[in-house]
Formats: sequence, structure tokens, C-alpha cells
Amino acid sequence: MISIQKEDFSIDRELKKIKNDECGASVIFLGTVKSPMDGKKVIKLELEAYAQLSIGKEHAKFQAVSSVGYKPFPEITIDTKTCKSCTHDFAASKKCHMNLYRISDIPELIPEYYLKCSLCRACEIYCPNKSIKVDYKKDSFIFAVEGTGALPLSEVIAQTIKIFDEKWTEFMEKIENATFSVWGAPFSSIP
Ligand code: SF4
Repeated sequence: MISIQKEDFSIDRELKKIKNDECGASVIFLGTVKSPMDGKKVIKLELEAYAQLSIGKEHAKFQAVSSVGYKPFPEITIDTKTCKSCTHDFAASKKCHMNLYRISDIPELIPEYYLKCSLCRACEIYCPNKSIKVDYKKDSFIFAVEGTGALPLSEVIAQTIKIFDEKWTEFMEKIENATFSVWGAPFSSIP
């Protein structure tokens, strides 16, 4: 966003216009016209600007995301029939390097434990009664995306899904129209 005016303006007010909960950094450049310039009084300014639309595949400076990571969605179950509720010396919980177990009357995981769980299986291995089962949900993943501030993350994700969908459709069309052959012979004539 560019703001040009003759009168003084408030930096705070300009900052409010660009602040966005999904962007972690805002950069403001303030330029003032100096006069005289080369011994002459400045009476007018001519400014030219253009916006370049491009993609990260062409150059890193166009990337909207700086890092992406994902992991399987952890699913931990505690079998209450075999669990002896060794509350005060709950061996398995002490082995959790992320400290994800609550020590109460019954062993339980903290809410949203799946965000921090590294699936190391230490709790499962060290449970004396083999009451803990560490697994992960099939077809479920937790993604962590860090943006550069160029675009809101909601927009980045919406565009990613759209582009992936277009590429998938193109790929499937190519497969459907492809002619397969093995060593030069049409695929259909191979016994
Ligand atoms: S699998 Fe590892 S990180 Fe996850 S709850 Fe068990 S001990 Fe903690």
C-alpha cells in the first residue's frame, strides 16, 4: 500500500490500515521530499510504480510461505481395564519428554496433546501394564505453515488447494488420453 500526500500524516494511522492478524511483520518506509534539489526548488514530483504478479517457482522472493512441516495425527488410547492407575508414580507419564500427561486419579493426556506429541512411543513402551497404545490416524495429518507476510495464510491455503486440484485434473486427463506401450508394442496387444 502506498500513501502520498502533501499534509503531515500519522504513522500509527497508516500502520492500522495494513495490520492483519495473519501477518507477523509490517514494514513502513517514510520518504520526505527535499528541496532545494541540485540548487533548484522542487515544485512537483512524478512517481511511477508497477506491481509484478509472479510465483515462487520463478524466484524465492515471490514465495508466500517460508516453511511447511507436517506430521501424522497422533492417536493415543489408554485401556482403563488394564490400567492400574499408578497415579503418583505413573511411570509412563514420566517418560514423556513433552510432558503431555496429567497426573490425576486416572492417567490422562492434556487437551490438544496431539499438537505436541512426537509419536516417540516412550509412554507405550514404559507403561508397566501395557495399557497405552500410541498410533496415528490414517489419512490425517497436522500441517504447520509459516507465511512470509506476502499473503494471508487463509489465501495461501485456498490457492494451494485450487492449484493442486487443477494439476490433479490435468494429470488425470493425460492418463485417460495416454497410449501405453511396452518396448514399442501397444499395451493392449501384450498377452
Ligand atoms: S508418544 Fe512420546 S511425545 Fe507422545 S505422549 Fe507418548 S511419550 Fe509423549
